[in-house]
Amino acid sequence: MAARKRMPGEFVAIARYFAPLATHPGAFGLKDDLAWLAPRARRRLVLKTDAIVVGVHTLPRDPPDLIARKALRVNLSDLAGKGASPLGYMLALVLPGNTTEAWLARFAAGLAADQKLFGVPLLGGDLTRTPGPPTIAITALGEAPPGQPLLRAGAKRDDAVFVSGTIGDAALGLLALRGKLAALPERHRRFLAWRYHLPAPRLALGRAIAPLASAAMDISDGLVGDLGHICAASDCGAEIDLAAIPASPAAKAAGDRHALRRITGGDDYELLFTAPATAEAGLRAAARKAGVPITRIGHIVARPGVRVLAPGGGAIPLKSRGWQHF
Ligand SMILES: [Mg+2]
Repeated sequence: MAARKRMPGEFVAIARYFAPLATHPGAFGLKDDLAWLAPRARRRLVLKTDAIVVGVHTLPRDPPDLIARKALRVNLSDLAGKGASPLGYMLALVLPGNTTEAWLARFAAGLAADQKLFGVPLLGGDLTRTPGPPTIAITALGEAPPGQPLLRAGAKRDDAVFVSGTIGDAALGLLALRGKLAALPERHRRFLAWRYHLPAPRLALGRAIAPLASAAMDISDGLVGDLGHICAASDCGAEIDLAAIPASPAAKAAGDRHALRRITGGDDYELLFTAPATAEAGLRAAARKAGVPITRIGHIVARPGVRVLAPGGGAIPLKSRGWQHF
């Protein structure tokens, strides 16, 4: 049965499925021990590693092409959050012994599709075996212009707080994929699941806002938790209006009872950034050019912590502030 055929040995698998992805001349077709890059003069090299464990960061039966694409995209999203442009990526792929060739082929096809979409080649990596679930560790390399790096630290009192796109779709998508939200029309459930499986790294937006923003990051662990990270790094606090947080039509259709899940659940991969209020017109022009909507959701205050204000004005008590592994 072809579909159940075990994957080939390490060197054949690399030659067959990964060498074709190593299109950068400095990767030498994966025939050497490492890759060589010539950084452009005065550019900063920006590095990020994120690992995905199947069954922890994904559902156990997620399609391998979608797992591959998400693993790459979550790293690109971090580069986007710093206004950096991707140069390439390293892949450490750790697979159980019973992995089929069909799984590997579909995984590599997912990477190939996204490499084309984002113009980011495989530079090298490692393929090894585990008694545990498939684990995909990707290190993305990017470059940023010279000058002050865009960091979590840098938000100032009275700065406005912005997010890109819509918030909470992926958290609701995970619910939908687990068979919840059954009352929601199929097209909405499909949209939310798609947002969970295929985040859209906001690379063009990140580059466009970088010169104007005071602090920025991508939202991976939930809006409230990640805004808390910006506040902690910037030694300040924030107030955001629940009613101002942008929701997709599908999230709106899911109803108000999921409002807190939307702002504390993870996997948005939208951008969260702060800027002086005077920069708002420039930011909006940058966002239009990048083709991604941005929404002002609140402002930075001196008092530490993140407060989410209800439409009436009072702060909403939050039990969970965001995703934590430990
Ligand atoms: Mg991040």
